Amino acid sequence: MNRRSFLKTAGAAGAVVGFGKLSWPHLSAAEPPGAALPTPSWVDKPMRWAQLTLVEDDPGKFDLQFWLDYFQRTRSDAVCLSAGGCVAYYPTKVPFHHRSQWLADRDAFGELVAGCRKLGMVVIARTDPHATYDDVQAAHPDWIAVDAEGQPRRHWASPEMWVTCGLGPYNFEFMTEVKKEIMSRYHVDAIFINRWDGSGMCYCEHCRKNFSDATGYELPRTNDPQDPARRAYILWRQQRLFDLWRLWDADVRKINPDSCVIPNTGGGATSSLDMQRIGELAPTLIADRQARRGLTAPWANGKNGKEFRATMGRKPIVGIFSVGVEEPNRWKDSVQSEAETRLWVADGVANGLRPWFTKFSGVLHDERWLKPVEDLYRRYARWEQYLRNERPLARVGLVYSQQTAWFHGAKVEDHTLGWYQALIEARLPFEMVHDRLLDAAHLDPFKTLILPNIAALSESQCAQLQTFVQSGGSLIATYETSLYDEWGVKRKDFGLADVFGVIFKGRVEGPMQNSYLRLETDPTTGRRHPLLAGLEDAPRIINGVRRIEVEATQPFPNPPLTLIPSYPDLPMEKVYPRVPKTDVPQVFLREVEVGRAVLSPPSGSVRTPRPTPARIVYFPWDIDRTFWEVLSVDHFKLLRNTIAWATNEDPVVTVTGPGVLDVTVWRQRDSMTVHLVNLTNPMMMKGPIRELTSVGKQQVRVCLPDGARPKKVRLLAAEETPRFERAPQYLSVTVPSVLDHEIVAIDF
Ligand SMILES: [Zn+2]
Repeated sequence: MNRRSFLKTAGAAGAVVGFGKLSWPHLSAAEPPGAALPTPSWVDKPMRWAQLTLVEDDPGKFDLQFWLDYFQRTRSDAVCLSAGGCVAYYPTKVPFHHRSQWLADRDAFGELVAGCRKLGMVVIARTDPHATYDDVQAAHPDWIAVDAEGQPRRHWASPEMWVTCGLGPYNFEFMTEVKKEIMSRYHVDAIFINRWDGSGMCYCEHCRKNFSDATGYELPRTNDPQDPARRAYILWRQQRLFDLWRLWDADVRKINPDSCVIPNTGGGATSSLDMQRIGELAPTLIADRQARRGLTAPWANGKNGKEFRATMGRKPIVGIFSVGVEEPNRWKDSVQSEAETRLWVADGVANGLRPWFTKFSGVLHDERWLKPVEDLYRRYARWEQYLRNERPLARVGLVYSQQTAWFHGAKVEDHTLGWYQALIEARLPFEMVHDRLLDAAHLDPFKTLILPNIAALSESQCAQLQTFVQSGGSLIATYETSLYDEWGVKRKDFGLADVFGVIFKGRVEGPMQNSYLRLETDPTTGRRHPLLAGLEDAPRIINGVRRIEVEATQPFPNPPLTLIPSYPDLPMEKVYPRVPKTDVPQVFLREVEVGRAVLSPPSGSVRTPRPTPARIVYFPWDIDRTFWEVLSVDHFKLLRNTIAWATNEDPVVTVTGPGVLDVTVWRQRDSMTVHLVNLTNPMMMKGPIRELTSVGKQQVRVCLPDGARPKKVRLLAAEETPRFERAPQYLSVTVPSVLDHEIVAIDF
């Protein structure tokens, strides 16, 4: 894309805020309206995916029939098979497309495709363009990625290879020919593209020229998002990749109109490609979070499902899981413990992901994973009708913000992870919400939105949130939320100052040592605020680590939490509060009557009013981030009570009993389900889990959809028909125990 067309698309978006030669809103608006790619007819059919990634010496060695049998035994209805890119597993004619040295005159890919087709499977071809060979480097040195010092890059793990440039002719020309050849020869249902978006920053001649032509800047040499060239690069790189996606997709559809390309992309706040635009473009996507590593939480796979769903909506989202140990040292031929794999996959499935197992190497060095995956897949096959979800029924939304991560930087995830953990512990079903999808259609399902330090918000995003509040939506926000614009530039005051009812006083304090919060009793009633439930015996609790000085612009009588300022934590003789009590509130709570405008609503916004008043909670400190760091149970109680107070309605589902459960609630066409994923485990904070630990009796109380009459209730894992009690709007079931995953399925 040249500079003129780039600027033209930017201008067409009605550049609201700009810098240099780029404007922010162009990123999503650069796609013409209705830019969604057509949906191939097969996309919603598969529920269980298999992936066999061949290694170069597999042809002639691996047992084809073994894999076909396994696909059948696992009831897999779709498969991803290695075709080309780094290694071609078929007799390619594209110059420089490297055939497997073990291929001889065979067609390993073609044989697999034919076998899987006979089984009735959806078949997609895998390509990987990120590395190439000396002959390519000699003939096309400009296809190779270049480092900041101007040197072509050898591959970090296979040093005889070269790293390719993701944004230049290697992808735009060579890989386009490879995809066209694969589609012409095999008419596969789609082409999956692994590692297609480059391997870090590239300073090759094409990247330098294309970037300069488009933006007027030299390629950035700093990661500072306040550097105009870095900001421009963050957007330009995405533009190149979306152009590449469209090019590949158009070319394969010319050959097979019922196909598409599936780039391996997407994720949460820290992912580099815009999820809003990805959600518009992709008919389906693969969420590639294969297992946990280090201190990854056991609910991280489900989080991924929620993040993708925030912009993909009902489009099928598939969750890749590995059967191996996914630590940084990459033991790619390893086998993970059965319990760890089961729980990881269960949390993905409970959160709407369709499972996809991946195995590298057609020759197995360790077969211990085969039986557990087979058992799991056969279970999901039995449950299939209850896994074809229409929509989640959660009433709480947790907002994530890529623009905050890109342009404000900082550790945005720590705030989100704190809320996520609290929501899991509170057993509350919730969804994640993309910060650039705050329109009525996306927010209508929710009563409460949580803004975990969503620092960077535009004026129009703030206006959307005000509209949400006017229609009865409740907001919970922490710390620097809306204190920066969409470019990460600090404002004089919060964009949401009117909603919070406070203004910024210009000072951020922290890191604070040894600071506390006083829990106050309302002198007029002699009682404590519901926010402090479960803390009746506590005079004070620990504070967070950073706080913002704010001043109320309206009355906040009897604040439930007040500041006890930081005092020395050493020498021990000096550890006594200098100021035992202040009148500085550390939470601001207010109620807004439905229909009472905070500001007049933007024209054209039509919303269904919510039945209870909107409630606003603003914490001027990092309660969520501190909770993730310290996991103080007092902070957990505050977070849980805050959601309950703000939401102010009967929950969709209440699950009472021992343990830590991820609870999700879904509607299918003729049924609804409550998933209980049992995360209770001595190893839950750091894997791998050794064994599944059953938890005892859970009382599940479900709010039934209007007019729904339950015909039958089943516990799918226990294979039992439990007794249930009915009130007009509710159904109560006792689940005797949960090992890893139970589903209460209610047929209407
Ligand atoms: Zn390049």
